[in-house]
Amino acid sequence: MKDALIKVMFEAAPVRAEVVTVDEAWREVCDRHDYPPAVQRMLGELVAASVLLSANLKWNGALVLQMHGHGPVRLAVVECQADLSMRATVKFDSSRTIDADAGLQELLNADGEGKFVIVLDPKDRQPGQQPYQGVVPLRGQTVAEVLEHYMIASEQLHTRLYLAADTERAAGLLLQKLPIEGGHAQNPDEDAWDRAQLLANTVKPEELLQVDPQTLLRRLFWEETLRVFEPQPVTFHCSCTREKVADVLLMLGQADVQELISERGEVLVHCDYCNQAYTFDPVDVTQLFNTGSPHAGILPPGAARH
Ligand SMILES: [Zn+2]
Repeated sequence: MKDALIKVMFEAAPVRAEVVTVDEAWREVCDRHDYPPAVQRMLGELVAASVLLSANLKWNGALVLQMHGHGPVRLAVVECQADLSMRATVKFDSSRTIDADAGLQELLNADGEGKFVIVLDPKDRQPGQQPYQGVVPLRGQTVAEVLEHYMIASEQLHTRLYLAADTERAAGLLLQKLPIEGGHAQNPDEDAWDRAQLLANTVKPEELLQVDPQTLLRRLFWEETLRVFEPQPVTFHCSCTREKVADVLLMLGQADVQELISERGEVLVHCDYCNQAYTFDPVDVTQLFNTGSPHAGILPPGAARH
């Protein structure tokens, strides 16, 4: 299966591994934007990481990974839902030439002030309830190193990540040492974590990009007894709607929106993630501020017609 995540548990030790390959869903992200190769690679690695980490969460909500910086890239964001549907975007300075080999620090952390932010936003969040947010400095030469630092500093979880991306695929391998209390093993194999890391360290980016997940897991851990779980599909999905864009316009206020209308004749908003265009003409805008409805000629439920 393409676009899938496979989870395995080591039978003899509290170690888990996951492999993800994102093909079609990754191309959906790439086709909607024109990212320079180095930016695309970095975003693809972040996409793979977000799916690997989401699959580990035992709750229903969105996992958002953000890298903020002051290089040619200002912001990279991936949002992955519990069902492994994801969307991703980058804000970068398109007027600057970005070297095809530019690394993470060069792209995002020119002044050393870059931040990595992880947000856990529960689906049933109550009004006024804030999502969980963790912030750490952007330490590391790769997306994988930044995340490994975060996981040990904030979650006290020994985690190894191996990530790769090209124009066709974003892929990754996650290895995690589970706390013994929650482990399933009767007689934990003390050396298993070290052995698993040694084996995982041999994985090459080309393998992540070319080999299917089942074959890769067999190739890496053929000496181990693994419990393999059903593959989970990974999809691209953007949750933007005309209603959400209308809410932003309402927050902006009538005066500012009317000014845009008089300058350009209409308000055109593109979704940062999927590039979908939302147009509001003068009639739509009048309707929006009179009734709160983003649909011209349609009144919201309960609204009285005057
Ligand atoms: Zn969208």
